Parts: sequence; structure tokens; C-alpha cells
Amino acid sequence: MNYIVFDLEWNQGKLGKKDRHHQKIPFEIIEIGAVKLNEKKEITDKFDQLVKPQIYKDMPHMIEKMLHVDMQELAKGNYFQKVCNDFLKWTESDSIFCTWGNQDLIELQRNMEYFEMGTLAKEPFEYLDVQKLFSIAYEDGKSRRNLEYAIDFLKIEKDVPFHRAYADAYYTTKVLQRIDSDIEEYCSYDVYTLPAEKDDEIHKIYSSYSKYISRIFPTKAAAMADKEVSSMGCYLCDRLTRRRIRYFTTGGRYFIGVSQCPKHGFIKNKVRLRKHVKSENESEEVYVDKTQRLISKPELTEIMKKRDKALAMQQKRLNITGLSASKLTRQRKSGVKHEKTKPEKKK
Ligand SMILES: [Zn+2]
Repeated sequence: MNYIVFDLEWNQGKLGKKDRHHQKIPFEIIEIGAVKLNEKKEITDKFDQLVKPQIYKDMPHMIEKMLHVDMQELAKGNYFQKVCNDFLKWTESDSIFCTWGNQDLIELQRNMEYFEMGTLAKEPFEYLDVQKLFSIAYEDGKSRRNLEYAIDFLKIEKDVPFHRAYADAYYTTKVLQRIDSDIEEYCSYDVYTLPAEKDDEIHKIYSSYSKYISRIFPTKAAAMADKEVSSMGCYLCDRLTRRRIRYFTTGGRYFIGVSQCPKHGFIKNKVRLRKHVKSENESEEVYVDKTQRLISKPELTEIMKKRDKALAMQQKRLNITGLSASKLTRQRKSGVKHEKTKPEKKK
């Protein structure tokens, strides 16, 4: 297996969001840089090509300054279709993409679709988000640092300027080489193409949590009504769980609930409702990114406090609008209940 560490530079034209192309292709790729590594994470090859612009023919001064590249230089490159084909041929089949953050795979595929080249896959696929892995390896797993921070943190020599595609791919490689192989299990999923059917949905169990990525639902309500989405069953065994905290939300973007497995203890269920990158602005469509993890008793207490605060806020809003709050109070008192549904079989 090869690691393909890549980085893109893109331009958005001087008009930004006002440009008529913006909705379809906010960023036009102008450079692809990549490093190929073998299984031992030794560098075996490099890829470095400029792309001749076809959409945005001018460049905001800020981008020009940051990238140290101008339109005259880009004009010497090949068109995206050729550069991208060369790149994909160069990657070979048995390889995993590695990027700093999650945006490069999205923009690569958005450019590919714009130029009628299809997408990288017909379903979500695994890749390594080195920015996330850096956080898991060296920080709290939640923080997201920029590449230069990681380079300084690891005391890696800064021998080439940042913000050119090859240079950033090279620095990302240097960080990846310093991350323990055990941590690579925490792969990410590219969701440019979501699961088409229920059978294609993603179920992944990592050492410290599980992840579920759903198909698209027409609305948030439809997503939350789905049995698989709302299930609080134990992700480690098939046992029935007791519901300790019913799903609640603070801002509507995610829901948290807690269940208890007789064997494994307390499980925090977090359901994130996400807008797909290709959804229209007005669309109510969402997909679900759900994680389940074991938590301690103090963590359960913390979540209970959060829940109480969220319900109090909700009650306050209802009082303002003059609606009865009795339903909420009932919800709060209902307490422990048995989950009737068994968890779905994991892949
Ligand atoms: Zn269990």
C-alpha cells in the first residue's frame, strides 16, 4: 500500500461570491502537489504540476502574494483535465489519500465534476486527515492546528516556503512520518458522495468510539425518526441498553443522549445533522454523522447538567411564546427507559 500525501492550491477570482461561477465551483484548482510513500512511510516519488486557469482568469492580490505565483506562471501549466488525469494515474490503485484537513478531497472532486470527470468513488471512502491525526497524537484530538504550527511543534526544519502545493504536501508528509502507525486507525471518510442506500451506510468501530455515516434524509425530522439514527444500542455488544438521558439539543445542529449497557457501562450517543456539500442552499436535506463512545460517571453527570440547562432554555422560550411547558416537564421526569430496539448488525 502507498500513502499519497497531496495538497492543492486554488483561486477564486477577484469577484469572490459575486462571480457567476461561484455556486458551482467556488475554487478553481491551480496547482497539485503530492508525495508518494511506501508502507514504511519512506518517500518514493513526487508530483508537482501547475494548472492553467479556465474559469477565473485573474487572481486576488492576497492569493498572489501568499502563493508566490502569478497568472503568467500559471499559463505555462496544463489544463486541469490533463493534470488531474496524470495525478490519478500516478497515485496507483492500492493507495490511501492523506491531506491536511478535509477540504482538499472535496475541492478536487468538485473540480472533477465541473470538468465532467466524475468523482473519485461512488460512496464514502477512507483517507487520512493528518491534521486530525496530529491532534490525536499530540493534543486533545479536537483541536485543529495549521500546518506551520505542527511543523514548529515537531521542530521540523522549514527548508522550503509554505503555501505552494508541493511544499505543503512535503510538510504534511513530515508530520505523517512522526505519527505512530497505531493512530492511523483513526481514518476519516470522504463524504463528497454519500451512501446511496441503507446497505451502503458506513459503520466503523475504532478503539475508543464508533462512527455511523448515513444516507441522505429529506429533513432533520426524518433523520431523527429513523430507527438506526435514534438507536442507543451498545456498539460493542448486542445487549439491550437502558436509556439514561433522552436525546436533547442545545442549538439544533447535534443531539446528545446517554444509554447504559449492562456489560460496558455508560454510552454517549452524539448525532450530528450535517448538510451535504452538494446540497442546494434552500434544501432541508441532511445526513447523519453519529458517534458513540463509553463515558465515565462524572461525564454522565456533566451531560445531565447540560441537558437541564438546555431544557430550561427551551422552557423559557416556550413561556415567552405562551405555550404550555407541561410536555417538557413530562419528558424530563420520564427518566430511565428500556431501549426496545436491538442495535443493527455492524459491518
Ligand atoms: Zn455492551
